[in-house]
Amino acid sequence: SNAIHIIGGGMAGVEAAWACARAGVPAVIHEMRPKVGTFAHRTGDLAEMVCSNSFRSDDHEQNAVGLLHWEMRAAGSLVMEMAARHRLPAGGALAVDRDAFSRDVTAAIRSNPLISVVEGEMTTLPKDGSWIVATGPLTSGALAESIRAATGAEQLAFFDAIAPIVHADTIDMSVAWRQSRYDKGETEEERTAYINCPMTKEQYEAFIDAMLAAEKTEFHEGETAGYFDGCLPVEVMAERGRETLRFGPMKPVGLTNAHQPDVKPHAVVQLRRDNALGTLYNIVGFQTKMKYGAQTSVFKMIPGLENASFARLGGIHRNTFINSPTLLDSQMRLKAHPWLRFAGQITGVEGYVESAAMGMLAGRLAAAEARGEALPPVPATTAVGALVSHITGGADAKSFQPMNVNFGLFPPLPEARGGRRGRAERYKGYTDRAKADWSAWLSGMVARAAE
Ligand code: FAD
Repeated sequence: SNAIHIIGGGMAGVEAAWACARAGVPAVIHEMRPKVGTFAHRTGDLAEMVCSNSFRSDDHEQNAVGLLHWEMRAAGSLVMEMAARHRLPAGGALAVDRDAFSRDVTAAIRSNPLISVVEGEMTTLPKDGSWIVATGPLTSGALAESIRAATGAEQLAFFDAIAPIVHADTIDMSVAWRQSRYDKGETEEERTAYINCPMTKEQYEAFIDAMLAAEKTEFHEGETAGYFDGCLPVEVMAERGRETLRFGPMKPVGLTNAHQPDVKPHAVVQLRRDNALGTLYNIVGFQTKMKYGAQTSVFKMIPGLENASFARLGGIHRNTFINSPTLLDSQMRLKAHPWLRFAGQITGVEGYVESAAMGMLAGRLAAAEARGEALPPVPATTAVGALVSHITGGADAKSFQPMNVNFGLFPPLPEARGGRRGRAERYKGYTDRAKADWSAWLSGMVARAAE
């Protein structure tokens, strides 16, 4: 048959199926729960909200995620319809009664004559047909292996491992110095790319003690299974042995303290430039599960960082995602196996709403293809279009990290006639333009204009 098969009945999977059915194309959802669970899901319902019960801001004039709500409603989103039905008072946010929400999404899917649900885990990627992979951040291990085999090992990540980021102007440069290990680099800029913080033996021992004693956030059971190495939390390295860090990210070799050239540091913490402006530096190798309060006090023990201000603290969480900018075409198909589309968080978007939106788009694209129609690309001026353009080409493939929708992804507005716009006016400009362009795309006007 010409049915579209969808692996995963989460936020993205249900929207993909719904979009197919709306286009008159049958869809089959393959969902492993309740037979096989994850560490975060609690029920066998579709579209379960695993953590917060909020779809975030509903402001569609000043907020990019609110605009995404608006665009999804205009396109007949099931998630938005059920969210409205079970909305709870929450100021400007769209919060819902999570159990009632998932129960009604499940009921709507199960009672739709064009959609069927098959229970059970898919353990390998299919070899033909038309499929949408929407298995989310907690894709089961067997399927993840199959995806890895199809994409190449480097193209599938299992964690977001975030090292803390420091405002450069709060680093004490009378203690720290700029130098790359072994002075490596072609240019002076490269030879001084790192900022180094030296430690004496006493400082190092006290630092290790503080890390071992610090309060940590626990990994969930099953969260680390098998995929842990490569991004060990810094405190876990310390637990493996007091000297481990001195032979790892804190090794003092190839570096000379510019302030005290004759004193060999016992250990060195390195910070690497994090943005083009050079205003932010990350602490190399310091991804961590320490609680935020503990992180600030422990990291301020690093000589030179006593008065540091942190732009972002560290964290690690399980998140399976592919390197979409290299792997997917503009129709969200795997370039190497075009019968496979990807949608949802596994494509490198972040959040319930973003995932649902990418599911809806993948469903529309697959259904159009099944009907022998080709949809034109979604304008990048819309929230849906900005997201899909980012993941399928706009983002830097080398440093690709999961992304929330935000106005930074939108093409700039034309210059204002009377000079620079204020922020509120700019955001209103983005959302007005997006609504017009999304409506035109939905009604097929974009296609006609292009012909
Ligand atoms: P999911 O909603 O996870 O759906 C994927 C579905 O695929 C699941 O139902 C799963 O059971 C199924 N599946 C997996 N493997 C297979 C297989 N091999 N065969 C068949 N079925 C399979 N986002 C927020 O916006 N707010 C939050 O507060 C938030 N908290 C989070 C907390 C945790 C612990 C995690 C892991 C994620 C959190 N997220 C949060 C992200 C959120 O989970 C996603 O944004 C969203 O659920 C992704 O939608 P999805 O459809 O891509 O994946």
